[in-house]
Amino acid sequence: MRKKVLAGNWKMFKTQAESEMFLKGFLPTLEETPEAREIILCVPFTDLNVLSRNLHGSRVQLGAQNVHWAENGAYTGEISGEMLTEIGVRYVIIGHSERRQFFGETDETVNLRLRAAQKYGLTPILCVGETKQQRDAGEAEALISMQLKKDLVDVDQSNLIIAYEPIWAIGTGDTCETKEANYIIGMIRNQLTNQNVPIQYGGSVKPNNIDEIMAQPEIDGVLVGGASLEADSFARIVNYQ
Ligand code: PGA
Repeated sequence: MRKKVLAGNWKMFKTQAESEMFLKGFLPTLEETPEAREIILCVPFTDLNVLSRNLHGSRVQLGAQNVHWAENGAYTGEISGEMLTEIGVRYVIIGHSERRQFFGETDETVNLRLRAAQKYGLTPILCVGETKQQRDAGEAEALISMQLKKDLVDVDQSNLIIAYEPIWAIGTGDTCETKEANYIIGMIRNQLTNQNVPIQYGGSVKPNNIDEIMAQPEIDGVLVGGASLEADSFARIVNYQ
């Protein structure tokens, strides 16, 4: 049985004070959430400390949104794996399309970051997915296969989560058809050597589509942007039917 993994990606939202407000509303809603569900919040670096303190003793795990591949060094603006694990971070998003698109992340740097994350004891959440143009040209499957092939070189698949995030569905309200997402996720699974890797769907996941998404047999969880920013909506998502 693969575990269900529900992760919020706050992107560049929330000050420390706003994070504390969120937790006040969110944590009490987890009392009846089935134990088998892994709940993760991937937050800005500046919020990690305040979450680490407030999540102590709760079932919510802490995640970051990026990690550098070096142990330390002259890498202005970057954060190392050791810095993250020291404050209680367990997960890290790697290769999000916004990093690939706006910050020059390539499959090569994604691969370096994945391997470093594992080396420092973090579980990476690798994001893959196609643009609208690639989808319309019928290139989605080939593109995703290529991303997996390059990104996963020498990566330990026993300590990995993958998120399929069609870029055209991120932040647009335009969800991928659930059956289509299920199909692509099955295809991703076929390419893995370890069949226990949880594979999430991401892209406009909301309280009103979560039940349908989680009912799909191949989909093991979700990576949620916008709808993870409000305690009520993220609570509805992690408490899906
Ligand atoms: P969204 O973002 O839920 O706001 O579409 C998802 C993501 O980028 O991980």
